[in-house]
Amino acid sequence: MSDFAAHAERIRAVPDWPEPGVTFRDITPLLADAAGLAATIDALTEVASGWGPIDTVVGIEARGFVLAPPVALRLGAGFVPVRKAGKLPAPTESRTYDLEYGSATVEVHRDAIAPGDRVLIMDDVLATGGTIAAARDLVTSLGGVVVGELVLLELPALGGRERLASDTPLAALVTYG
Ligand code: 5GP
Repeated sequence: MSDFAAHAERIRAVPDWPEPGVTFRDITPLLADAAGLAATIDALTEVASGWGPIDTVVGIEARGFVLAPPVALRLGAGFVPVRKAGKLPAPTESRTYDLEYGSATVEVHRDAIAPGDRVLIMDDVLATGGTIAAARDLVTSLGGVVVGELVLLELPALGGRERLASDTPLAALVTYG
């Protein structure tokens, strides 16, 4: 974790993207750097290792797909994608949640999580918490046990931590704002 701090400055703030007034936190320069990528995966794995045995790491489309598989490999867990609507071929469970403007739907294969599976949910960024709340709902509706929620970056001003408040541990490697 301490080594990660030296690399976090590679996360780039892009003003007015994707729309005026929004500052987008771009993690791609961090991941493009070999030492930054290694430190990121090491730090995420270290946090998740404190949450007991994990059967499955759920990664949320799209940047959660980048972070979750290497962490799953390190933990000896499987990887399950939570995808945007219409992308998964087999029968799915789906949840729709509100965005600032409009709504979004995420899905998971019904047979990807078995009752009692211990599941870690991962994404790159926690903003309002809507995305992780929907993923949590999908996992628990299939009988999975969410043992932790883990992101690279948290934007506390957007209230995600309050929205997700529960007994489940929620961790971010770095916070902005
Ligand atoms: P939430 O549902 O918590 O409001 O938003 C989180 C989702 O939006 C994540 O899947 C994340 O990828 C994306 N997101 C929101 N803001 C940012 C940002 O500043 N940078 C990045 N990389 N993703 C963001």
